[in-house]
Amino acid sequence: MTRNSLFDVIIIGSGIGGLVTATQLAAKRAKVLVLESYLIPGGSAGYFEREGYHFDVGASMIFGMGQNGTTNLLTRALHAVNVSVETIADPVQIHYHLPNGLDLKVDRVYEKYLQNLTAYFPHETKGIRRFYDECWKVFNCLNSMDLLSLEEPRYLLRTFLKHPLACLGLVKYLPQNAGDIARRYIKDPELLRFIDMECYCWSVVPANMTPMINAGMVFSDRHYGGVNYPKGGVGKIAQALATGLEKTGGKIQYQARVKRILTERGKAVGVELVNGQIYRGKRIVSNATRWDTFEKLLPVEEMPRNEKKWQQVYQKSPSFFSLHMGVKQSVLPPGTECHHILLEDWQDMTKPQGTIFVSIPTLLDPDLAPAEYHIIHAFTPDWIENWQGLTEQEYEKRKEAAAWRIIDRLEQIFPGLDAGIDYLEVGTPRTHRRFLGREDGTYGPIPRRKLRGLLSMPFNRTAIPGLYCVGDSTFPGQGLNAVAFSGFACAHRIAVDLGL
Ligand SMILES: Cc1cc2nc3c(=O)[nH]c(=O)nc-3n(C[C@H](O)[C@H](O)[C@H](O)COP(=O)(O)OP(=O)(O)OC[C@H]3O[C@@H](n4cnc5c(N)ncnc54)[C@H](O)[C@@H]3O)c2cc1C
Repeated sequence: MTRNSLFDVIIIGSGIGGLVTATQLAAKRAKVLVLESYLIPGGSAGYFEREGYHFDVGASMIFGMGQNGTTNLLTRALHAVNVSVETIADPVQIHYHLPNGLDLKVDRVYEKYLQNLTAYFPHETKGIRRFYDECWKVFNCLNSMDLLSLEEPRYLLRTFLKHPLACLGLVKYLPQNAGDIARRYIKDPELLRFIDMECYCWSVVPANMTPMINAGMVFSDRHYGGVNYPKGGVGKIAQALATGLEKTGGKIQYQARVKRILTERGKAVGVELVNGQIYRGKRIVSNATRWDTFEKLLPVEEMPRNEKKWQQVYQKSPSFFSLHMGVKQSVLPPGTECHHILLEDWQDMTKPQGTIFVSIPTLLDPDLAPAEYHIIHAFTPDWIENWQGLTEQEYEKRKEAAAWRIIDRLEQIFPGLDAGIDYLEVGTPRTHRRFLGREDGTYGPIPRRKLRGLLSMPFNRTAIPGLYCVGDSTFPGQGLNAVAFSGFACAHRIAVDLGL
C-alpha cells in the first residue's frame, strides 16, 4: 500500500462490531481497510490455543445465530459476504446455582423454562408469565423489522410506514428498564433478586438499570433462535467474517496498532499507526471503546462536549478475573450443562469476585480439547484497581490466591475439580486490558445511576465529522449480537453518507 492510499472507510479494530461494519460496507463495494493491533480478528470474541486446548477468550453464549426472523444478526452478517459457520444448538442457556437452594435451568423451550421457574415460585405463576410475555412483545417488534441505523431518517420513515405498530411498541419500551416492568408483575423479593441475576449475568447491572429493549432480546431470543455454539469455537465467527471481507474486496491488516486518528480542520481524515504508517480514509470508524477513542486516539483535551457528558452518565464496567482450565472428563457429573452461574449470597452478586460465570464448550464441541478432557472457562467481575501497584511477586501471589478461591467454590458443582486440573491459565483485568486493547480491561459502559432505558446510549456518529464509533460503547451495548446490530447500523449510516 502506498503511503497515501485513500480508502472509503478505515476501521480501527476487528472486534465483531468492526468486522460487521467492514463486511456490510465491502458488500456495498466500498473500499474498506480494517486495522487490527492483535494477531487475529475477534477481540473479546477471539481465541487462543494451549497444549491441545482451544479456548474462547471471552464470549461463549452466542445469540444471533438462529435461522429465522431479523434479529439473527450474526447469521445475516456472515451470509452478506457469502460465508457461514456451523453451529451446535445448546439445549439449556444457563444452569443457575443460586442462594437458598435456587437451582434452575433455563431450558431452550420457553414453556419448560416457565415450568422450572414457577416450580420454585408457584404463588408468582401469573406474574412470571406476564413479565416474560412482555419481553416477547419487545422481541416480536424487533424481530419484525430490518435492524439498521436509527440515525437515518428515511429508514425510520420507511420502517414506520411498513411496521407502524412494532415501531410504536419499541418507542414505548425504549425509555424503560426491565426491573420496573418486573416489579409491576412480581412481588416476591427472592424472585426479583433472581430477575436481577437474569439481567446482571449479561448487562453487569441489576434489572432496574438494565434497558428493557436488551432484556426483551435476550429473554426471548434464547427460546426463539436459541443459544448456538459455533463449531470449532467462537473465534470461527470473526475468522469467517474476515475471510468474507477479503473475498468481497476489503483488506484487513494485523499487528497494525493505530496510534492516533488524524484530523484536519476538525474532521477525521485518516489514522497513524504506531510504526508511523499513515492511511487516509473518507470515513474513519473506531471499534475501540469510547474511552480509548476519545482519550487515547484523539487528544483528551479536545474531547467533544457530548462525550464528556456521556462519561458523566456512563462509567466503565469492571473487567474480569478469569481461569481457563483443561480438566479431566471425570470432573463433570453426568448431565452437566455448558453454561453455569454460581453465587452463594445475594449480597455478593455485584461485588468483585462475587458471581462466577462458567462455560464448558467441550460439552457441545468435544474437538476443542484432547480426548477425555474438557475446557472449563470460569470468570468473575473484578476491577483493575485491585491489580495495580503490585510488585511482580505480589501480583503472582494474589493471582494464585484468587484462582484457588474460585476453584474451591467451583468444587460445589464440580467435585474433584482441583485434582482433575490438567492445564490452568489465570487472567486478571490487566490481562484483559493488554490482550483485548480495552481501557482498564472493561467489559463496556454501564450506567452510573438509573437511566431511562437505552435513551442515552450514543449511536454511531460522533461530534467529529467523518468519525464514527461501533461496538459495545454504542447502542445497544455489550454482547456479540448487540455489537453486530451496532455494526449493521454503522455501515448503513456510512453507506448513506457516502452515497453508496
Ligand atoms: C469474559 C467475557 C465473556 C463474555 N461473554 C459473552 C457471551 O457469552 N456472549 C456474548 O454475546 N458476549 C459476551 N461477552 C461480550 C462480548 O464479547 C463483547 O461485547 C463484544 O465481543 C465486543 O465487541 P466489540 O466489537 O465492541 O469490541 P472488541 O471485541 O473489544 O474488539 C475491538 C478490537 O479492536 C482492536 N483495537 C482496539 N484498539 C485498537 C487500536 N488502537 N488499533 C488497532 N486495533 C485496535 C482490539 O484489539 C480488538 O480486536 C463477553 C466478554 C468478555 C470479556
